[in-house]
Amino acid sequence: MEMYYTIIIFMFGTLFGSFFNVVGYRLPKGESIVFPASHCPNCNHKLKGWELIPILSFLCLGGKCSKCKQKISWIYPMFEFLTGCLFALSYILYGFSIDFIIALIIVSSLLIIIVSDLRYYIIPDEVLLIGSILLLLAYCVKGGWTLALSALINGAISFAIMFAIKCLGDFLFKKESMGGGDIKLLFFFGMIFGWPLSILSIFLASFIGLPISLYILYKKNTHVIPFGPFLSMATLIIFFSNIQIDMIIQWLTF
Ligand SMILES: [Zn+2]
Repeated sequence: MEMYYTIIIFMFGTLFGSFFNVVGYRLPKGESIVFPASHCPNCNHKLKGWELIPILSFLCLGGKCSKCKQKISWIYPMFEFLTGCLFALSYILYGFSIDFIIALIIVSSLLIIIVSDLRYYIIPDEVLLIGSILLLLAYCVKGGWTLALSALINGAISFAIMFAIKCLGDFLFKKESMGGGDIKLLFFFGMIFGWPLSILSIFLASFIGLPISLYILYKKNTHVIPFGPFLSMATLIIFFSNIQIDMIIQWLTF
């Protein structure tokens, strides 16, 4: 039965992944996330029902638009698969509980942020705001208003530390070192796992981001690489690996 639920939740996750892609692409452009219906960006062919099935439709179409045969990026099915996996993992770890809902809120918000930051270098305020409100409501259900309040305070502390790091960076490099979106993102991380761990996400993000950034700089000849996707990936890793701050202190003192 557990296996059965896990598979269903994985399939729901792939559907949500497909939706998050649309949200992440359209929200920063100020477009409606419902209309127009999904279409091929090349020939405007409106996707039929079966062409909207995550992953499978990509495989059946051989990675091409059914009308104009324009290649579809493999990033779409990969992203749908990743969302499915993270939804399933949330269920495996927490079962049907309030922690499962909390995990889904975190996963959903961060995945949309990854899409829009990669595409437009924008972290949409709407996603952070709605994500934070849903998270606060879930905390109220889980541990009452004291838990929600402590999450808010942790968010504010993380925001302040990130802001201080940005000011220091601006001073040292004599230019804008970090986008405003990255600082607001830290508020959200602080709400997820408190302020010492939220700061760890910056270090982990730099660690993941450095080799990838060097590769992109070398390959694509661009100078702008968004930091938000690396921060979000680091947060997902910290969240799912369930790292605790005392584990790090223990590791550092030995
Ligand atoms: Zn087409």
